[in-house]
Amino acid sequence: MAQSVIHLEDIRKSYKIGNNELPVLKGVSLDIFKNEYVALMGPSGSGKSTLMNILGCLDTPTGGKYVLSGHDVSTMPDDALALVRNKEIGFVFQQFNLMPRLTALENVAVPLIYAGVNKKEREEKAMQMIEKVGLGSRYKHKPNELSGGQCQRVAIARALVNDPSLILADEPTGNLDTKTSVEIMEIFDKIHAGGNTVVLVTHEEDIAEHAHRIVRLRDGLIETDRRNPKYLTATH
Ligand code: ADP
Ligand code: MG
Repeated sequence: MAQSVIHLEDIRKSYKIGNNELPVLKGVSLDIFKNEYVALMGPSGSGKSTLMNILGCLDTPTGGKYVLSGHDVSTMPDDALALVRNKEIGFVFQQFNLMPRLTALENVAVPLIYAGVNKKEREEKAMQMIEKVGLGSRYKHKPNELSGGQCQRVAIARALVNDPSLILADEPTGNLDTKTSVEIMEIFDKIHAGGNTVVLVTHEEDIAEHAHRIVRLRDGLIETDRRNPKYLTATH
């Protein structure tokens, strides 16, 4: 059997609120394989962002096992985890999370600083990514001089710059109008077609239709996990 990019076994997460525990993920088991294109859906508060943050190694589960591309990250110390995260994962947020004082190009280059790449190579690679996401001549602009769609292009370029195999996106079109959302989804389609594994959260059916597999969470558990009928004839 092919190795999973994401292997989750009975993942649990609860938040401490005062003296109480709020269980948010109640035992999520899931395998996602190389080059899958998955939409994660579910009502607000069902635990989608909590799960994505765990998948992205931005947060740790309170129980269960997470194996990312063969690394058991559920037991890994923080510094080792940061290395795996920087190498294996590109994360795209709904609110873009760009650094306001940096230009588009400088934002895209940030993960390369952590990866220890020299300045000249950083600029070249960041520029390639800027072109790949269709931002073109606006690379010298700062986030407040860019539209929402352009900011999300910058954020996607930043997520891709270290050449991670896994791209995670939490409601990447949640702050964008319909036309811009379609343009952004075309970029995710291209990323998937280029061989990456893509997992994105959305609550819009039109957006989820881009994915080949649709996983629905409800109240901290997987409710359904289905192939998108549109792609049933595809080979994976
Ligand atoms: P979704 O993304 O599906 O809307 P979330 O994962 O953001 O859901 O949240 C699931 C539940 O966990 C909600 O009830 C939310 O209030 C709670 N929650 C999320 N993050 C925290 C946190 N850092 N501390 C306490 N409760 C949280
Ligand atoms: Mg959310």
